[in-house]
Amino acid sequence: MEQIKKVTISPGCISCGTCEVVCPEVFYIKDVSCVKDGVDITQHEGCIKEAAQMCPVQVIEIVLEES
Ligand code: SF4
Repeated sequence: MEQIKKVTISPGCISCGTCEVVCPEVFYIKDVSCVKDGVDITQHEGCIKEAAQMCPVQVIEIVLEES
């Protein structure tokens, strides 16, 4: 099974807020979207993937690892 190892935001976020709405445990908008420090991303994989799919400019990058 693949697990999310890392989530990053590439340049180009338009600060639409969608990822924060979909997955507030992980994302917050400062000037652009940020990933919260210290969050256990493995606990929020569903909403991280949903946010990545819904991002209008596709800048949420998910790195997977085999577990
Ligand atoms: S959904 Fe995409 S464009 Fe919108 S705030 Fe999140 S990272 Fe930025």
